[in-house]
Amino acid sequence: MKVTVFGIGYVGLVQAAVLAEVGHDVVCVDVDQNKVDNLEKGIIPIYEPGLTPLVTSNFEQGRVKFTTDAEKGVTHGEVVFIAVGTPPDEDGSADLKYVQAVAKTIATHMQKHKIIINKSTVPVGTADKVIATVSETLKELNKDLTFDVVSNPEFLKEGAAVNDCMRPDRIILGTESEFAEKKLRELYSPFNRNHDKIIVMDVRSAELTKYAANCMLATKISFMNEMSNLAELMGADIENVRKGIGSDPRIGYQFIYPGCGYGGSCFPKDVQALVRSANGVGYKAKILESVEAVNYRQKEKLFDYLMDFYKGDLKGNTIALWGLSFKPNTDDMREASSRVLMEKLWEQGAKVQAFDPEAMEETQRIYGNRSDLSLMGTKEATLNNADCLVICTEWQAFRAPDFELIKSSIKDPVVFDGRNLFEPSLMSEYGLHYYAIGRALSV
Ligand code: NAD
Repeated sequence: MKVTVFGIGYVGLVQAAVLAEVGHDVVCVDVDQNKVDNLEKGIIPIYEPGLTPLVTSNFEQGRVKFTTDAEKGVTHGEVVFIAVGTPPDEDGSADLKYVQAVAKTIATHMQKHKIIINKSTVPVGTADKVIATVSETLKELNKDLTFDVVSNPEFLKEGAAVNDCMRPDRIILGTESEFAEKKLRELYSPFNRNHDKIIVMDVRSAELTKYAANCMLATKISFMNEMSNLAELMGADIENVRKGIGSDPRIGYQFIYPGCGYGGSCFPKDVQALVRSANGVGYKAKILESVEAVNYRQKEKLFDYLMDFYKGDLKGNTIALWGLSFKPNTDDMREASSRVLMEKLWEQGAKVQAFDPEAMEETQRIYGNRSDLSLMGTKEATLNNADCLVICTEWQAFRAPDFELIKSSIKDPVVFDGRNLFEPSLMSEYGLHYYAIGRALSV
């Protein structure tokens, strides 16, 4: 099937590569000329396991092409995906300007029927706005053409995006058009062989499903973080509590890890956007407001531990920091807890020596060259002349470090762990003070 994808970001690029891999003929359109030029040279703009070989092999075989030529893109696809960003507006609601710009572009260049698929995460009612934009533009241009608008939200997880798109848990189609449903069933049939993963529903329910999923996951995290703060104050160990509640199948073990807060491009913005959407229909989303507030506070947790240990004086200290990305297996730093920590440390006059397996370039891009940030080549190198060690991201490579080396390298034998990677008793054996989330301080 001839497919066009507008927006070559995490969602658009992975979706395009996966659709090409199963044999579809895909054209990707982006406004970023540099990104398109790089992709044509085989330079992939993001780190995502398995993505580079998938993109390069499909590009070499001509099944996926990259362009900034919107007309070429619109002409090519019988189905046209909108996979552009929907960043938070000033008040936290989703900004639809990129989605609407693509809708207008599609209407401007289309010469026959198109199925327009909205993959971006958008508030309920956006499909109606896209329909209005396309209809108005067609009318202005005196074009008498029909089209369908389908909501098909994306559920991929950064760090596992290729696998998630290759083996989706579910494919949500929000449409009442039999024609569009039939075409999309055909498009997705290679991913729907094991059992029927396609769930068809009305457009508004599909749009809300995406927010409900992300808000539920964010709620689980903030709930556990709330419990971890109580555990700390009450002398309990959140890791025991986690195992204790996870054993109930109604709760389950997944996604109940306490930590130094959630980040990324989705949870923070989607929780905020749904709070604003709720306000818009006259409803106060109290749970979601609390989820956001708890997370905001949790991102300051590591800083609070450091202030506690150093009795409020971090001036002149050098902090070794492991993990910059908002979660492992990605180079994405959007809303990462590490950023909150580093910025607070710098305010206090501390220096940071950081390492991340993938997010060093991104950190450099965001913060540039500053005297209070040194990006080190290895996690061990961060320890040289550092006062203490802080861990922000649970990369596999951090799980079994050389504790003797840590102890002998840092000036104060203390580790602040935002992801609870180690057993407190083990840290005591190595003579390391250990601050972990929701666990009694071990000395
Ligand atoms: P991104 O910022 O990585 O990529 C968006 C791309 O769209 C950029 O390359 C940008 O240049 C391009 N773009 C902007 N305007 C354009 C236009 N008019 N024409 C063509 N291209 C244009 O965004 P992303 O992380 O891929 O997210 C896209 C959407 O998918 C968002 O709504 C997001 O909430 C949602 N989503 C993201 C994830 C995720 O894990 N990143 C998961 C599920 C859903």
